[in-house]
Amino acid sequence: MTQPVLSLWINGQARSAASTRLADIANPATGEIVRQAPLANSEDVNAAVAAAKAAFPAWRATTPLRRARILTRFRELMEKNRDELARLASEEHGKTLADAAGSVQRGIEVIEFASGVPHLLKGEQAEDVGRGVDCHSLLQPVGVCVGITPFNFPAMVPLWMFPVAIACGNTFVLKPSEKVPSCSLKMAALFTEAGLPDGVMNVITGDKEAVDALLTHPDVGAISFVGSTPVAKYVYETGARHGKRVQALGGAKNHALVMPDADMAFTADAIVGAAYGSAGERCMAISTVVAVGSAGDALLALLQQKVAGLKVGAGNQPGIDMGPVISGAHRDRIVSLIDSGVAQGATLALDGRGLTVPGCEQGFFVGPTLFDHVTTDMTIYQEEIFGPVLIVLRANTFDDAVRLINRNPYGNGTAVFTRSGHWARRFENEIEVGMVGINVPIPVPMAFFSFGGWKASLFGDLHMHGMEGVNFYTRSKVVTSRWPAPEEHSAATLAMPALG
Ligand code: NAD
Repeated sequence: MTQPVLSLWINGQARSAASTRLADIANPATGEIVRQAPLANSEDVNAAVAAAKAAFPAWRATTPLRRARILTRFRELMEKNRDELARLASEEHGKTLADAAGSVQRGIEVIEFASGVPHLLKGEQAEDVGRGVDCHSLLQPVGVCVGITPFNFPAMVPLWMFPVAIACGNTFVLKPSEKVPSCSLKMAALFTEAGLPDGVMNVITGDKEAVDALLTHPDVGAISFVGSTPVAKYVYETGARHGKRVQALGGAKNHALVMPDADMAFTADAIVGAAYGSAGERCMAISTVVAVGSAGDALLALLQQKVAGLKVGAGNQPGIDMGPVISGAHRDRIVSLIDSGVAQGATLALDGRGLTVPGCEQGFFVGPTLFDHVTTDMTIYQEEIFGPVLIVLRANTFDDAVRLINRNPYGNGTAVFTRSGHWARRFENEIEVGMVGINVPIPVPMAFFSFGGWKASLFGDLHMHGMEGVNFYTRSKVVTSRWPAPEEHSAATLAMPALG
């Protein structure tokens, strides 16, 4: 049976791709191919970048206030279409509808933040930096910006990028994951409906071929990437080599440190939600618990009981806690990692292998899996599993646990569970991770703060959205001015002027 083929979105309209390569998009709950997406080639990339370049001068000259009004209308349309976007995200990714709707909402909050752009673009001003000399700074757009996004948040991760870039006066080419492109195409159409001029926002579906054409394109000024660490590093290095500014967010292995004084029932609930929500396919999922001292046994008993009660099934069905993972290949990788955990001597407290969901026999399901007594030399500790597998390590002291977390190469998110302000404060101060929760399991910063990790979780300097996002999508210019009266004209001097 032939499946519908998606179009690209270029210059304010749907357009067929020049490329003839296609990607199958499966519903992970059923394994069924629901549609296909073009895998754009360099001709498609050139068309999208050319549209964005042509739209840039007029968009840059549109006042920030007028840009903000279009963003406000876009936000309203996004709210009206939230359920449809959640349905598309759930269909192509597999997550539950409630989870998908929550992530769309978190993305809408970035549009809300970006709608304050007239205020965000105010530079600095100082009078009399020298006698009769004033100084002010401007934040000006970069030009054509590019977003390359992963499969696990079909709406939210693109929304970390393009509303801020466009609010700042840039034009944009988005290349979503070829596994989940429909939300991006829908959002581009809604933005046009909100009054965005043609060419300001473009979407091309594609894979490495499209990414490579974007990374090396002479008319691209900035690249935002979110995905796995090896690809993030590649995107950062290639983009930088071609003279672009790049922010490339990578993978994660997020640890929760649990102290014996924590409220264990609260902690167990928080960790179950953070580990198994979205089938563990969140870059901020808690995938690793480090239990200190007596916390281990108390927590494990609760986790076992709560995790065993999770309902797994198709994400669009009522009462389901956890959907499938993204693909058959990913399911097989997760299962082989679980096999390795058993072979390397970890205690398998709950085994999610071999799960079949009635009515969804061809779906890509892995049941919630829990390992205890994991050690740092095991593959299940060293690899990002990105599935519904939670591992528990034991540590004797708070200091041992902090050292263990700081030795991990990733540094995206982490959390501490304790009732002691002393431990919480030390954790916040000493932990080498970009986003920290104190009794908050998934500390995803709100849109008016910035999102980003440290170490192998981020290549580049600036995080996404918040003021770091504004700084990434603008170039600062500093203007020093003097308006001397004719009688103040001084003779030429060849010495370096010292103002002060
Ligand atoms: P991925 O790295 O496979 O793909 C991300 C994007 O890069 C996609 O658009 C894809 O088409 C493109 N791509 C893939 N391989 C490429 C290659 N060899 N060359 C050029 N481009 C390539 O990631 P994914 O599987 O879609 O997403 C899961 C990963 O993303 C996990 O590692 C997860 O931790 C990470 N992630 C990180 C964050 C964060 O904020 N740090 C957020 C979400 C997801």
